[in-house]
Amino acid sequence: MKICILPGDGIGPEIMAEAVRVLQALDLRCELEEALLGGCAVDATGEPYPEATQRLAKAADAVLLGAVGGPQWDNLPRAQRPERGLLGIRQQLGLFANLRPAILYSELANASTLKPEVVAGLDILIVRELTGDIYFGQPRGIEMRAVDGHQERFGFNTMHYSESEIRRIVRVAFAAARKRNRKLCSVDKMNVLETTQLWRDVANETAAEYPDVELSHMLVDNAAMQLVRNPKQFDVLVTGNLFGDILSDEAAMLTGSIGMLPSASLDADNKGLYEPCHGSAPDIAGHGLANPLATILSVAMMLRYTFAQEDAALRIESAVRKVLALGYRTADIYEPGTQKLGTRAMGDAVLAAL
Ligand code: NAD
Repeated sequence: MKICILPGDGIGPEIMAEAVRVLQALDLRCELEEALLGGCAVDATGEPYPEATQRLAKAADAVLLGAVGGPQWDNLPRAQRPERGLLGIRQQLGLFANLRPAILYSELANASTLKPEVVAGLDILIVRELTGDIYFGQPRGIEMRAVDGHQERFGFNTMHYSESEIRRIVRVAFAAARKRNRKLCSVDKMNVLETTQLWRDVANETAAEYPDVELSHMLVDNAAMQLVRNPKQFDVLVTGNLFGDILSDEAAMLTGSIGMLPSASLDADNKGLYEPCHGSAPDIAGHGLANPLATILSVAMMLRYTFAQEDAALRIESAVRKVLALGYRTADIYEPGTQKLGTRAMGDAVLAAL
């Protein structure tokens, strides 16, 4: 198990230190190599995704990332911004499948803006296609065109998906559903968009390969409503890049606790980049206050999806549940009556629970 560790900027190094301690405690015989990505890489080499990091990331089976960015790099030319490093690595590794779980542990139900009974115990997974759709389709642009006999600015983008692009992401989602409650909902807008009619057709064809998973379909407008009305009806949702961008953020916010949410981006061979959903939190960086649980849960996702180590993944996830049940909280999820811990102490608590 070759793992490339990219702590990044801000709270990145603090939360990564705890995630690495948890990984090492599992005794899994993995090889860890650390490299620079983001602002720290710009400071050291002038590049957000330097050559040496590219070599390590390509050679690794999985990449574990903290977070990148911070105000000190916001005024650099676009090509040197930390976020370019993130886009660069995602693109270079061909990561087309973005897996974003939205889990709300019962103990944290008050963190959500929705009623506790609607969200307590929520556990859904959004699988978003990441490299196609209207975000990348050509032609695109803004140009002068004749409209009703006069010239005016005209904006256009192109939504497209090939059959093979749809099939490979739908397969990832079916495989993920198999590891969960075997229910997959495919989200489209087939009543208006031909591209998504094809999406629905290919999803239906692919279902024959997964007879043990129940496939349903939902229009995206309804899916947006159902996510806030009754989110617990879902197990796995799969959708394209545009709809997935919006629905995955909506689902993340159902939980109200960004410090708890891991994510995975996978290629065709299950090589993956694993990272928390939150950013580098420059406002609390260096103070030992950050919640390391999203990064620790990203380690669990890595063990499950890249290394097929389901038992180890479950051990980490149940250790996190136990820590919450014992009443330990970092400042971002603190409530009166619980015990507030810093980053290192939260790592210690997870290790003790393991
Ligand atoms: P952010 O997620 O970093 O922070 C938003 C708020 O949540 C802050 O108040 C922060 O203190 C808090 N927070 C975030 N993670 C936390 C944690 N683990 N524990 C406790 N509190 C936490 O988003 P932002 O402030 O919009 O962005 C800050 C920087 O992060 C920017 O430079 C941005 O570009 C970058 N960013 C990076 C990524 C990434 O690396 N994937 C994602 C988003 C933002």
